[in-house]
Amino acid sequence: MSGVIDVSRRVPDRLTFLQKLYLPEILRGMWVTLRHLARNLANMKGLPTILYPEARRNYSKRFRGKHILKAREDGMLKCVACYMCQQACPAECITIVAGEHPKIAYEKYPVVFDIDMMRCVFCGFCVDACPKDAIWMTRNYEMAFFSREDAVFSIDRLRETKAEVEKYGYGYRPYYPGDGTTPPSDASMLPVLAGGGERDRLRAGAIPLPDRDAGPGPLNAPSQARKAFSA
Ligand code: SF4
Ligand code: SF4
Repeated sequence: MSGVIDVSRRVPDRLTFLQKLYLPEILRGMWVTLRHLARNLANMKGLPTILYPEARRNYSKRFRGKHILKAREDGMLKCVACYMCQQACPAECITIVAGEHPKIAYEKYPVVFDIDMMRCVFCGFCVDACPKDAIWMTRNYEMAFFSREDAVFSIDRLRETKAEVEKYGYGYRPYYPGDGTTPPSDASMLPVLAGGGERDRLRAGAIPLPDRDAGPGPLNAPSQARKAFSA
């Protein structure tokens, strides 16, 4: 019957005399390799492989690659460490540690923002979940790494750069206008300005903010607040 492999016909346990010599088998294998080499050399255009990096695969317009974290004009990340993307991620590959920023206008920000690219399925749910338009995807597929640790991209590698966006462009989103690869104009790039002082007064009454460390970090958040309340 076609399509059925007869597993009852086993490879003989004993090698023949010629197989025991090895040389004929090696030559037979080399002949197969040489035959393919000659065939491919004669028909370079029909090669099933791509000579990367000289040639690059032209992926579908719906391709989504590496993420970027968008920044404001003052260089601060737009991310407010709300954990929405982490919650939405079906692969559970986003790790965020929120910190309290010394600039009162920003409040929370991500001290740690890691994406494990070995687990990510590039579904784009994190982009959809973000209320701050802070995480986007690009068409960058050049994410080679040589160790498990290198596969976890931190803020350094995720922060958007002009060069990366210009080289690869943005990944597909169904609700973007046109072909889905051009995001609408980003209106929330401006720095956040501190309010009229109301927040400062509230905070000054509830939590003695001068107690905060000068440098940002995860210890500035709950641990500082606890210290303030117990004082
Ligand atoms: S693209 Fe999908 S799998 Fe990857 S980080 Fe975002 S939500 Fe998680
Ligand atoms: S959903 Fe957006 S703002 Fe919230 S933690 Fe993720 S990237 Fe940051």
